[in-house]
Amino acid sequence: MKIALAGNPNSGKTTLFNALTGKTAHVGNWAGVTVNKKEALIKKIFNQTNTSITAVDLPGAYSLSPFTSEEAITRDFVKNQQPEVIINIVDATNLSRSLFLSTQLLELGIPVVIALNKTDLTQKKKTIIDVAALSKMLSCPVVEIVAVKNRGNGLDALIEKVLSVTEHSQRAPFKIDNVDLNNKKAVKEVDIKRFQFVEQLVQSVEMRQNKSNQQTIQDSVDRVVAHKWLGLPIFAFIMWTVFSISQTYLGPILAEILGGWIEIFYVFVQNLLGNDVSPVLSSLLLDGIIGGVGAVVGFLPLIMVLFFLLAILEDCGYMARVAVVMDRYFKRVGLSGKSIIPIIIGTGCSIPGIMATRTIKNERQRRTTAMLTPFMPCGAKLPVIALFAGVFFNDAAWVGTLMYFMGIAIIILGALVVMRITGEKNSRSFFIMELPEYRFPSIQRAITSTLSRAKAFIVKAGTIILLCNAAVQIMQTFTWQFDVVAAGEQSSSILASVSSPFAFFLIPLGFGVWQLAAAAITGFIAKENVVGTLAVVYSITNFINTDELALVSGGSQVASIMGLSSVAALSYLIFNLFTPPCFAAIGAMNAEMEDKKWLWGGVAFQFGMGYFMAFITYQIGTLITTGTLGDGFIYGFIICLLLVSYLFYLMKKGDKQTVVTLKTMKN
Ligand code: GDP
Repeated sequence: MKIALAGNPNSGKTTLFNALTGKTAHVGNWAGVTVNKKEALIKKIFNQTNTSITAVDLPGAYSLSPFTSEEAITRDFVKNQQPEVIINIVDATNLSRSLFLSTQLLELGIPVVIALNKTDLTQKKKTIIDVAALSKMLSCPVVEIVAVKNRGNGLDALIEKVLSVTEHSQRAPFKIDNVDLNNKKAVKEVDIKRFQFVEQLVQSVEMRQNKSNQQTIQDSVDRVVAHKWLGLPIFAFIMWTVFSISQTYLGPILAEILGGWIEIFYVFVQNLLGNDVSPVLSSLLLDGIIGGVGAVVGFLPLIMVLFFLLAILEDCGYMARVAVVMDRYFKRVGLSGKSIIPIIIGTGCSIPGIMATRTIKNERQRRTTAMLTPFMPCGAKLPVIALFAGVFFNDAAWVGTLMYFMGIAIIILGALVVMRITGEKNSRSFFIMELPEYRFPSIQRAITSTLSRAKAFIVKAGTIILLCNAAVQIMQTFTWQFDVVAAGEQSSSILASVSSPFAFFLIPLGFGVWQLAAAAITGFIAKENVVGTLAVVYSITNFINTDELALVSGGSQVASIMGLSSVAALSYLIFNLFTPPCFAAIGAMNAEMEDKKWLWGGVAFQFGMGYFMAFITYQIGTLITTGTLGDGFIYGFIICLLLVSYLFYLMKKGDKQTVVTLKTMKN
């Protein structure tokens, strides 16, 4: 038996889906988190029968009229796959908006059970909903539930209703026949009537006892937090605090403990191997695999603390305010307000972020957002940030914060450039962001979300990162003739000869050596590789080494092994963060953009942007700190000049196109 979960964005579908099936799909506290449909079996504790029930979580939709692609997915699924029952999740705190969709679902001829969710909140707000009357007026069962509290809060009753309702047929409470669905005006008129019907219905079943003053407190908080001028500094301060905790205080303490364990394991394997094993094999195992993977995994605690704090910020409702703050800037550069959601999701991983662009209807905005989302530092980039902040900047929180805000600045700049290149006038987009109420964040939810991300991180480290590190170690050990590289002749290795030509182009950025080039290249496979490869090529088994940490800030051993000035280190970090993301993310970009010109244009833009930013950072930074320009200024300058000129040429061409379009519009 197949049942579909349908409802408005943010009504709690994913939460209910997770509670019913025991899966841990990502739950977000804003509209548009669920993009693809998810399927799983309902847990036995809710289903006492022998029939197994598959639940399908559909993307949120406000109406079944075709407006955005997510609505199209819902509409197509419900129409084509004919689920036996639809559970329509209705947000009890937002009845009128939710019931609009309900009346449409009831027209499909498939039994519907309404799950009236978030009833804990209505109780708190002293809103009373006459469930019996609602059920009667819609002529379908209504079950009150609280999806966030697993078992015992109406879920048994809900499934019981689902099983019993299959037999009965329902009658649509609101139906107008003979509407031509291609006639926009007619559809709109029906929508207006439907809306009026729902409004009346809500008036007769809902009783708000008092406009609680909780609302006004929330409003005044919003007035500050989402303020025109204050919003951004507050966000910066909060991010700085998040990085301080994860990067400077709590994170390193935990990382040191884990680092100790990794070292014990390293020594254990070393002793196990003894002296009988060939040095090539033992170094592959110890330095390549344990050292490389260990260096990446060593940062796990820092990342988990960061993800935990971000989950808390999201859960308490703050991230939705950030979206409102950013919306003001994004609208000006021709992005959709909806672009914010992919970008915020992208801070976890670019791939779901890029996939979330699917909810943006305007094609240009969707492609632009998919192209710019990877500029946000994702989870895989965090070890790189943490490594450089730790080794070169004494674990300073400003490094991570700066990288976030640079990401945002580049996105805004990039959007501006794309708007001019595509020759489109700034079409104003209207974006209605629902602001969820502030609430006390749930530690349990934050832990679940952190753990599922940690799991993904470990799986990745144990597979792709492990393979890459082994490959790097092998390429570093052998020459092209497959002889073992002699001591002191590292530059004859396969790895050195492959990465040296690239290193040449990196001289103007301050890091033109093959080791750093190799790490940047493996970073395109997965960003964590930057850390792993550095560990392998410099034979540093553990970056978060207790002794070394004490030495950090300028005189650190690791810093001196890498031989970078702090300015060059910052430039290297910027290069790794703001050039194209990993291959998988480029694949996702390809899927969402559906256009090769956009894809390669986007990747080229990412390369150019990373190169340019690193160049500026290194050269200006070196000039300030030493009084002279850095190495390779002239030819780096020529490369950047060519890049920028080409961009200006494209923008000029775009401008002309705009003039032509405007003229034709006038005629
Ligand atoms: P979706 O977009 O419909 O999939 O909604 P989500 O499952 O992501 O939930 C949106 C937000 O509502 C999340 O922050 C949930 O924690 C919250 N939520 C879901 N169900 C309930 C509930 O019964 N009570 C309360 N207070 N919050 C809920």
